[in-house]
Amino acid sequence: MSTPLLEVSGLQAGYGDVTVLRGIDLTVDRGQMVALIGANGAGKTTLLRSLSGLVRATGGQARLDGVALQGLAPHRIVEAGFVQSPEGKQLFTDMSVQENLMVGAHNARARALRQQTLAEVFDIFPILAERRSQRAGTLSGGQQQMVAVGRALMAKPQLLALDEPSLGLAPIMADRLFESIGRIRALGISVLVIEQNVFKVLQMADRGYVMENGVIEMSGTGSELLRNERLRSSYLGL
Ligand code: ATP
Repeated sequence: MSTPLLEVSGLQAGYGDVTVLRGIDLTVDRGQMVALIGANGAGKTTLLRSLSGLVRATGGQARLDGVALQGLAPHRIVEAGFVQSPEGKQLFTDMSVQENLMVGAHNARARALRQQTLAEVFDIFPILAERRSQRAGTLSGGQQQMVAVGRALMAKPQLLALDEPSLGLAPIMADRLFESIGRIRALGISVLVIEQNVFKVLQMADRGYVMENGVIEMSGTGSELLRNERLRSSYLGL
């Protein structure tokens, strides 16, 4: 069996004296889409921030394609292939769509491929090709979210991490964004996504992990979790 793309074991992290992650075990296989769900404050964002090198791990391990991520600077983690599109889009609102996308391609590996990757991003999000010269700040919320995801793709991730990509989007725009995640997977890029839209994300995901109070409470395939009584009552209101 090949090793997982991302292998997290016993990961601990927090802020100052406050421990948030209390030993996280999670894997993402190559080409998989994995959903991370859980109540507000469970530590999902902290997990992504810790994998991205923005919050220091205080224990445990995380390996991407065999490379230990702990202790690496955030830009080295991007170079290793773990790229996060942050919660809150953080675009340069006065710059054009294309300029914002190009910002994502600044590591050496990505820079060399940026014209080709830009064409892939425009295939995934055709509306961004139409609006490539428009100022990012004048786009709709959903289109801005597409720019944020596209910018992360420009860094040539092996694993793309998304923090609540559908937050604040109208249902139709959220549907389009989920469709685009399908197209991203079709390119062979693995996806780890935090999502409040539990029903939708578990329908698409190969695996889901349910986080509560800094630990993984449950995991399973998307369809197993959708059939799980506890998950249905806690997260789907069924
Ligand atoms: P949400 O969906 O609300 O973002 P989450 O599962 O992503 O929830 P986190 O944002 O990881 O949860 O927060 C986990 C805990 O860490 C919370 O108790 C939160 O108050 C705390 N926390 C988050 N960021 C910081 C910070 N910068 N400094 C101190 N505590 C923080």
